[in-house]
Amino acid sequence: METFTVKTTKQIEIIDITGMVEQIVADSEIKEGICLVYVPHATAAVILNENEPNLCKDYVKFFEQFVPKGNWAHNAIDNNAEAHLKSAFFGPGKMIPIYGRSLLRGTWQQIMLCEFDGPRERKVIVICK
Ligand code: ZN
Repeated sequence: METFTVKTTKQIEIIDITGMVEQIVADSEIKEGICLVYVPHATAAVILNENEPNLCKDYVKFFEQFVPKGNWAHNAIDNNAEAHLKSAFFGPGKMIPIYGRSLLRGTWQQIMLCEFDGPRERKVIVICK
């Protein structure tokens, strides 16, 4: 198991972590297997998709519209219900095949950490088997 941290700077932010994960996969020397990328957080998520500047703006817009600010019950506790709901829906991790000591990703599949309640320091766990 390997871990690294990512410091986010905005409330909602998409951060490309592909390079860091690919380096861990290469160092693992696993030729064929599975890589789990997981964030142990209830207000963040991992998606696999294109890192294109306009699309990154669209992800943020989509996340805001998908779960709008509102009168959510949890907001009485720490005012971040929207972040929890997005994290619950998109999920804390992804499994990606390893082949030839690298991730078997499509051309437009980057590994993106989604921050929903930043800025914070986020931990990323990577397990290659
Ligand atoms: Zn909360």
